Amino acid sequence: MTWKERDAAVVWHPFTPQKNIGNIIPIVKASGSLLYDENGNSYIDSISSWWVTLHGHAHPYIAQKIYEQAQTLEQVIFAGFTHQPGIVLAERLLALHQHHFSKIFYSDNGSTATEVAIKMAIQYWWNKGDLKRKKILAFRNSYHGDTFGAMSVSHRSVFTLAFNDHLFEVICIDTPNPENIGTIKSIIHSHASEIAAFIYEPLIQGAGGMHLYDADLLNELLNTVNLADIICIADEVMTGFGRTGKFFASDYLHKKPDILCMSKGLTGGTMALGATACTDKIYTAYVQDDPLKTFFHGHSFTANPIACSAALASLDLLEQTATIDAIHQISDACSNFYESISQEKAFINPRLLGTILAFELNTANHGYLNSISTTITNLALAKGIFLRPLGNTVYIMPPYCINNAELCRIFDFLRVLKDL
Ligand SMILES: *Cc1c(COP(=O)(O)O)cnc(C)c1O
Repeated sequence: MTWKERDAAVVWHPFTPQKNIGNIIPIVKASGSLLYDENGNSYIDSISSWWVTLHGHAHPYIAQKIYEQAQTLEQVIFAGFTHQPGIVLAERLLALHQHHFSKIFYSDNGSTATEVAIKMAIQYWWNKGDLKRKKILAFRNSYHGDTFGAMSVSHRSVFTLAFNDHLFEVICIDTPNPENIGTIKSIIHSHASEIAAFIYEPLIQGAGGMHLYDADLLNELLNTVNLADIICIADEVMTGFGRTGKFFASDYLHKKPDILCMSKGLTGGTMALGATACTDKIYTAYVQDDPLKTFFHGHSFTANPIACSAALASLDLLEQTATIDAIHQISDACSNFYESISQEKAFINPRLLGTILAFELNTANHGYLNSISTTITNLALAKGIFLRPLGNTVYIMPPYCINNAELCRIFDFLRVLKDL
């Protein structure tokens, strides 16, 4: 049996319709920005394997650190025990956020990082004895993960349809624009006393179609939310670690959140790890004599030492000037491409933020489940490029190690899509 056949017999893949399963490609190795299949074909990983890979695949420096950690301490229960990688990573993450936050709570993926944030915020009010503040305020079109809490605060979509009756109620607002900002503020004012927290993807909604919105208006909104004493949760699971051109998207904003979620690029995309940072204000609500005020949350692999070491290695690389330069070069190259397509009618709403470039294709097929996405993915694969559009939203988010020749190949391919 081939690997494909063996896979089909035993494995169920994520986000994949199980009837007429399309192309599932066995990947045997990867290096830099390239993925290699079993026949030796290579594909430029232009979306960083679902937005996680920062420095390229199988990076020797990160691999070495993982190897060393695996031989020293691979895992230990994180309640009652601690370890150096977990401590040093927390120190470095807090420093990256200019010590605005005071504690790091570890978990093991993006959905758990947001679940932790939501639970932390809800229990904050419970611990303080304010039993009215229970609701979450969230943006329409948002995505915060696939577990129940994360789904609840995400946009109701084809992803959540079967579960909608089981999701908790959320107060929804649109992302701000000059026309609706007044309405949004009045919604917040009228519900303020019942809202525990506001969760948002700063500046760009990823899974919602790489939708960009205005930093000044977000500042204004966060200001309103702050004044209403609502806890702010920035979900930086996608935007963290340089994606938007700064270390964090929140670095573009004057208003800092009370809680911030990290995952995906945290380990350079090598290991599963989540981290939720909170300010002293949040943390102190949990420092109480009453044991019922404890945050009863944890995962078997909380702060896994190998994952923490991978994250430390990724931060070493990320802090090098060469990496910062690479991020700017990707941004510049994308910007040139953006200029070159801005007059093309086939490309709707081209947009750019840091290393993320996106546009919609002018096609009759809309929505996540349309076939245009599969068509584009297959066309790209034939050209040695891996792309995975969100419906008719085509985007790239390459690893920082991508070279100019590879970027040019991607851009040449994208240009041809106007004739689709
Ligand atoms: C991907 C993503 C998540 C969920 O992360 P997983 O590791 O896939 O669970 C949460 N929030 C945002 C903004 C994301 O992009």
